Amino acid sequence: MTHSDILIIGGGIAGMSAAFFLAKAGKSVTVLEREDQPGYHSTGRSAALYSETYGPKIIRKMSTASRDFFITPPDGFTDHPILTPRGIIMTAAPGEEAKLDEILTEGRANGANFVSLTPAELKEIIPVINTDLIASAAHETDAMDIDVHALHWGFIRQFKSLGGTLITKADVCAISKTDGTWQVTLGNGQTHSGDIIVNAAGAWVDDIATKAGVKPLGITPKRRTAVMVDLPSDVNAHGWPLVASLDESLYFKEDAGRLLVSPADTTPTEPHDVQPEELDIAITIDRLMTATSIEVRRPGESWAGLRSFFADGDPVSAFDPADGSFYWLAGQGGYGIQTAPAMGEYAASLICGGGIPVHMEKLGITEDALSATRPSLVTGK
Ligand SMILES: Cc1cc2nc3c(=O)[nH]c(=O)nc-3n(C[C@H](O)[C@H](O)[C@H](O)COP(=O)(O)OP(=O)(O)OC[C@H]3O[C@@H](n4cnc5c(N)ncnc54)[C@H](O)[C@@H]3O)c2cc1C
Repeated sequence: MTHSDILIIGGGIAGMSAAFFLAKAGKSVTVLEREDQPGYHSTGRSAALYSETYGPKIIRKMSTASRDFFITPPDGFTDHPILTPRGIIMTAAPGEEAKLDEILTEGRANGANFVSLTPAELKEIIPVINTDLIASAAHETDAMDIDVHALHWGFIRQFKSLGGTLITKADVCAISKTDGTWQVTLGNGQTHSGDIIVNAAGAWVDDIATKAGVKPLGITPKRRTAVMVDLPSDVNAHGWPLVASLDESLYFKEDAGRLLVSPADTTPTEPHDVQPEELDIAITIDRLMTATSIEVRRPGESWAGLRSFFADGDPVSAFDPADGSFYWLAGQGGYGIQTAPAMGEYAASLICGGGIPVHMEKLGITEDALSATRPSLVTGK
């Protein structure tokens, strides 16, 4: 049996970002990942977007807290920029103008660059858009694309160079605790021990908690579908911002000369290797054809991924209230990539007893906001 200070279960972006910061702090760390590719689940299926105005308050703060890392990662992390310009245009249907104004006001107050667009101005940027259905729009020019692979593998490479161990095909099947030390047994019979477990198993965090004899916090994985669509030869989408409807029923984004389209579905499901449903693909295409003049004869490849949420939609990054050696790093929803640097640094700092990193404290990030004992989790509301 090998022993580490910390065993991390899950080698997605959450597990690997925490692993990097923990190894940097001098801890011996082993990451156990069930798949042979650590990005196989949610991390490898995202829309790869960074926006400091997207998501609940604590997510927006964690995204802002991640910006410096994205722009100036550690030496040797990656050989090209992690963020590249994209922009987001939010479209409001008649009746939604006030809601859009609210977002604009809040975004601007937080320093985001927002430009209001009339339907005619929107059509100049996205010529295929059907403006009959749009009352107004807002362009957040600072939103970026994230190179998810570069980010994830940057964490993995640096973690390994700091002496960390990542074991793939390591399916955690049983977890026990003897004399204050965790023992984890894999499907192949191997065992690993550690002083602290970090539960970064994405959609499976409640399953891991149950195995460890810790009370589950009630995660709900929600399916989201993405479909690739070919563009007509006379449409050049290069440089288009991502376009999202304010009612969260559709978004599309140019991807290597094609469109990545999602109906922004949020269907609750069980944790599993989720696949797209025929009906969701049909809904995606129908909504795209209603929102634009694009004719889709045959959809391209499609996939689905899980976005996992706690009851109040906020993540948890905290020790379990009943077991101070079991750390939850979970519930990142649809924002786990854009918050990964700050979430990883925060978790490592708390685990090492360092409290909240100063730059996060300055942004108003509190332990209460990320705790496992906040009332909404305890009461399930
Ligand atoms: C369609 C879609 C679009 C998205 N768009 C964005 C976006 O634009 N921006 C953004 O920031 N986020 C986005 N997200 C969300 C983001 O992808 C997730 O928040 C993030 O990937 C979660 O990372 P994770 O490491 O927690 O989960 P995962 O990547 O799922 O990693 C968890 C890992 O735990 C492992 N595991 C589970 N059980 C065990 C076990 N028993 N033993 C060993 N290992 C185990 C799994 O194999 C898995 O690899 C999107 C998600 C989807 C689905």
